[in-house]
Amino acid sequence: MNRREKTKKFISRFRSSGMVSRFFHCPGDFCPGKIALEISVIYIFLGTLWILFSDRLLLKLIVDRELAAAVSMIKGGIFILATAVILYFLIKIFFSRIRSMNLDLKMYQEQLRQMAFEDHLTSLPNRAAFYETAKGHMDHCPGSNMALMFLDIDNFKYINDTLGHRAGDQLILKIGKRLSALSDKSKSIYRIGGDEFIVFVHQYEAEKEIETHAKALLHFFDRPFRISDCTLNITVSLGIALYPLHGNDVETLLKCADIAMYKAKSAARGRYAFYSQETDMQIQERMALENELWKALERNEFSLCYQPQIDVITGRINSMEALLRWNNEKLGQVSPLKFISIAEETSLINPIGDWVLLNACNFLKRVHDQGHPEISVSVNVSIIQLMQQDFIEKVMKILLETGVEPGSLELEITESVLIESYDGIKDLLKELKSKGIKIALDDFGTGYSSLSYLTHIPINTLKIDKVFIDTIANNGEDTSLTNMIIMIGRRLGLSIIAEGVETEWQLEYLKKYDCNKIQGYYFSKPLPQEELLKLLDKDR
Ligand code: C2E
Ligand code: MG
Ligand code: MG
Repeated sequence: MNRREKTKKFISRFRSSGMVSRFFHCPGDFCPGKIALEISVIYIFLGTLWILFSDRLLLKLIVDRELAAAVSMIKGGIFILATAVILYFLIKIFFSRIRSMNLDLKMYQEQLRQMAFEDHLTSLPNRAAFYETAKGHMDHCPGSNMALMFLDIDNFKYINDTLGHRAGDQLILKIGKRLSALSDKSKSIYRIGGDEFIVFVHQYEAEKEIETHAKALLHFFDRPFRISDCTLNITVSLGIALYPLHGNDVETLLKCADIAMYKAKSAARGRYAFYSQETDMQIQERMALENELWKALERNEFSLCYQPQIDVITGRINSMEALLRWNNEKLGQVSPLKFISIAEETSLINPIGDWVLLNACNFLKRVHDQGHPEISVSVNVSIIQLMQQDFIEKVMKILLETGVEPGSLELEITESVLIESYDGIKDLLKELKSKGIKIALDDFGTGYSSLSYLTHIPINTLKIDKVFIDTIANNGEDTSLTNMIIMIGRRLGLSIIAEGVETEWQLEYLKKYDCNKIQGYYFSKPLPQEELLKLLDKDR
């Protein structure tokens, strides 16, 4: 192999190694290495031509040696000048390019910062911004009074599930807009997640001020929101944690405010609560409950008991309500009032609810087979169960499997929940009703519906809540509103059940005003299956 061939081989190997392309490759259209190399090659080429030909030309044109020397100097000067001009422009272009790149970089950095600290839906500052601001204030004025108000929309999940996520987003957006009007020198507003907002009070003198802020904040939601042709009456729950009393850093304070918010929510809707250690313990208890609840079904810890419902005219049992019982090894008997809401929050209510329906129908079949075919069963269902796409399918399958007629099953839905999510479930209720399944409005009077509402909801039964029955005075005087409810309900063709009847007075009053059925300790507590069967046999 001669030298030429060797050189060729080396160049081709060098090329195929990709070093050249890697050296010159730049993303985008700007490649400084390549440009610099091109300019240098052009410069060497032109410079060489200049040196080779300019002197020869000079010698040919000028005979006088001294003059030629002087012109040669001028020529050298022109060369330096031209080089300097080229260098000047190159350096200028180079630096202005760097400067514009810096400006672009700053702009991108600013945009990135905005994205990192701003909530994209509401344009309010987000969780990261809250951490930064709160920490900044705490570092700057350690020990001065600050408050964190954690705001959470009540039952937002239902709105999302019934009206759809787009409507949920619209609601968040409108709430964000409303809240941002509150922002001033002493308070800043953040959206820190789904339906959670924070009002951070930078400074206050007395705790009373925070209470005033909290009340004002709750009233802020008195005006309804209009979303996708629906008018939504929203309430929020507020948890409040104070700095430095409840925590010395943002993380602790946020945790405390969150715990306080849970406390507010569990009390009722639209409340505020301050953090306390006692609340903390309640939350720990709740977490323990939730942990056990996850394993309750597979451990077979649930059972059903049945409370008879008595026909006021005949005085005989004609239906029963299935009530869930949970007996846990560690926690003992846990009231449904404690665990149903947790089951709803965790969606565990769906498998639990399926279990309840199946077992209640199985027992009803047994009751029918033992000679009581007129008895029907009421089963409490949660709104979360109704939201399932295949809810009707599931119910019909259970009825078919157990051999129970649809007319012997009544589903109880709590009034407040039904009214709140009505737009989303009205078609489902109509379909259930068309299949012969009855619907009862449970705990009537404790929600916020008006009686006129009853004219358009597809229900069969109205269950007057115990709080109304409790108002029936011992002497049977008409001081209670209960008679009005019975009268209106009956006029609408509904069957009326009075819940929580405990005294003879109450029974007499309910009889007098034509209530259809009674349910309560006066007649019987909820009973285990076998005891109920015995009672039915005795009643025959
Ligand atoms: P509810 O559906 O309104 O059930 C009536 C509650 O009142 C029952 O409490 C019953 O034991 C109680 N009660 C009945 N008569 C009297 C009385 O004369 N005096 C008093 N003081 N109380 C009486 P329980 O069994 O603790 O159930 C509480 C709530 O838990 C139920 O209220 C219902 O909303 C819910 N729940 C129970 N079982 C289920 C279930 O299987 N699924 C769902 N989703 N919720 C359930
Ligand atoms: Mg009920
Ligand atoms: Mg009830």
